[in-house]
Amino acid sequence: MSGTSSSSTRVLPRDIAELKALAERQPELAPAAELQISLIETVRRVQGRLTTPWLESTAEELTARLAKGQALLDFDQILFEWNDVRLLIRQIADILRRYDAVDADGVLALHNVGRAADLPDRMRAWFSGTPSPDVEMLDEVLLWAARPYLQRTAEVLQQRVTFDTWRRPTCPACAAEPDFSVITPAGERLLVCSRCLVRWAFAATDCPYCGNSDRATITSMATSDGMYRVTICQPCGRYLKALDGRKSSRPLLPYADPIVTLPLDAAVMRRQGK
Ligand SMILES: [Zn+2]
Ligand SMILES: [Zn+2]
Repeated sequence: MSGTSSSSTRVLPRDIAELKALAERQPELAPAAELQISLIETVRRVQGRLTTPWLESTAEELTARLAKGQALLDFDQILFEWNDVRLLIRQIADILRRYDAVDADGVLALHNVGRAADLPDRMRAWFSGTPSPDVEMLDEVLLWAARPYLQRTAEVLQQRVTFDTWRRPTCPACAAEPDFSVITPAGERLLVCSRCLVRWAFAATDCPYCGNSDRATITSMATSDGMYRVTICQPCGRYLKALDGRKSSRPLLPYADPIVTLPLDAAVMRRQGK
């Protein structure tokens, strides 16, 4: 009971076009933009041949699970094609090496993880939120390699159930933290999952990382054109960037906007004295 579909390839060409324009506009961001484009193109090749998972759960079961505060996705529901995942890990590691994001030993260690028999166990641990500090950049590599599969499963879930009533700080589909957000024209804030890119509504000013809701300890900065904002939480020191839909003429580009806004990360670092 499964078929193929090409639905999740749709946003990527726009992300790539925006990243190419960024590299022209701001040459200092060109290496980061080019690295991101290489990663997107690698993942795209796999996306074209993904199988759509068949999920047994009914809309009622999924809604009940959300009402209990439980994210919907179980690791075993994700249809990993392990040969493709292993190839992806190798290709992603090679790209990171080309852009000097890992050294020669680092890329070998990543290749070894991609070849090892225990890769599914590694991936399961990563999915449950256990970091892998023993191999440099492994968490990032697993994220890129897992994302097409996670995203496809999350899409299927979203066709069956709405996340409108969720309003928790972590993803209703895969339980991960957000790492970007969108402010809607109505001023509502949607968090964007760092793994599966699902979006869900969350209190407009609260910190999703520590739950702090004291506005006096949450500062906000915007880019000069007002298109992007960043809110910084003083108690936990973490921050979240946003595309402000009240000022932006285009929707969020989930692969491009985190790179477009790298100067905001730098501004936060300066502010925090790092
Ligand atoms: Zn997610
Ligand atoms: Zn916080």
